[in-house]
Amino acid sequence: MSDCIFCKIAEKKIPSKIVHEDERAVAFEDVNPQAPVHVLVISKKHVVSMADLHEADASLLGHLMLTGHKVAKQKGIAEGGYRIVVNTGANGGQSVFHLHLHVLGGRAMHWPPG
Ligand code: AMP
Repeated sequence: MSDCIFCKIAEKKIPSKIVHEDERAVAFEDVNPQAPVHVLVISKKHVVSMADLHEADASLLGHLMLTGHKVAKQKGIAEGGYRIVVNTGANGGQSVFHLHLHVLGGRAMHWPPG
């Protein structure tokens, strides 16, 4: 989508610190990290949010989750534990409307989240 910032990152039209890329996903450093490790995993295909996924997207969603784990391993936080967050919609705290997983780690996470 032409006015979507994450589509532009996936297309390398705006700069980002990419840590992983494959045929369906891109992972890059969050510009405003909330933990020592904070990477976003996005779908190359423009999907607005979890609310816009369908049964046919199950494989894509699984791929994004597995990519999140791959990134966690790459960043050295898989063994100690980490958190994957998918903010969805206004009450979920979503601010960029292109589906993304936050991979957070490198410190102990708190519960409940804010
Ligand atoms: P959310 O609030 O769940 O939609 O998360 C959006 C995330 O995108 C936030 O953590 C932002 O810091 C991050 N973000 C926004 N613009 C950029 C960008 N250009 N490069 C990297 N991260 C970004």
